Amino acid sequence: MEAQLTCEIISVGNELLIGKVVNTNASWLAERLTRLGVAVKRITVVGDDLSEISSCVGEALSRKPRYILMTGGLGPTYDDITLEGLAEALGKPLILNHEALEMVRGKYEKMGEELTEARVKMAKMPEGAEPLPNPVGTAPAAKILFGNTVIYALPGVPREMEAIFNESISKEVSMESGFRIAELSLRVTGVKESALAPLISRVKELYPNTYIKSHPKGSEEKSSIEIYFNAFHRDEAAANRLVKEAAEKLAHLVEEAYGKVVSLLEDPT
Ligand code: ATP
Ligand code: MG
Repeated sequence: MEAQLTCEIISVGNELLIGKVVNTNASWLAERLTRLGVAVKRITVVGDDLSEISSCVGEALSRKPRYILMTGGLGPTYDDITLEGLAEALGKPLILNHEALEMVRGKYEKMGEELTEARVKMAKMPEGAEPLPNPVGTAPAAKILFGNTVIYALPGVPREMEAIFNESISKEVSMESGFRIAELSLRVTGVKESALAPLISRVKELYPNTYIKSHPKGSEEKSSIEIYFNAFHRDEAAANRLVKEAAEKLAHLVEEAYGKVVSLLEDPT
């Protein structure tokens, strides 16, 4: 049997070291990775300090885990230096990543805000990094290879970190670890997202191993909402069963509460 995939988690932030913020990002990631069949070998916390970050990444790399997941310090302010520390550890320059810049520009354009120098900073990544879109915030995440290690740097805000993990990383990890993903999307028309939220929460409680995310489509009046489900299992049929059951439960709750017919989408993206 092949060896289990390994991972280290590095959380960056002074607020974690002074006990102001509880490191829920690390425990959340550890739980998800474990469920995806990855052995989490170490969790480290470092402050917003260039040499601390760089040496911490260097030490983790020397143990050759398959993955290193970093959280925190991707924002626009001067103390957000995770990617600089990562670049230093990799011996690569920190450069403006044009794809990341387009992501950042798009976010601020939508908000009708300027692309300031501090915001451009969020698009500076180690040379060779691939930016990963942040569906709920402004700072893109970064993915970079070093030897046989894949390094991901994620934002510190839990909601953003979780969304990027769920949408860009878990699929890759599960493909490698042999876990199968099942996906499914429903469309609900004529019910507001805020009205759906408590029903989605109920389904999440009933199916804790299923990821559920609603995406509003079109205008608020037309309020068509896509609800995306995914689940992981070594057995593909079991994964399919899980998402199907969760989706059917939600469809049932929506129909019961609002009398609306819920349709299944063919292409779950
Ligand atoms: P921002 O753009 O908000 O600056 P960032 O990626 O730079 O995002 P941080 O500045 O490190 O992230 O953290 C932002 C906030 O996210 C923190 O104030 C804290 O509330 C929360 N946070 C950061 N790290 C963690 C963590 N490991 N666990 C839980 N919450 C965290
Ligand atoms: Mg920050």
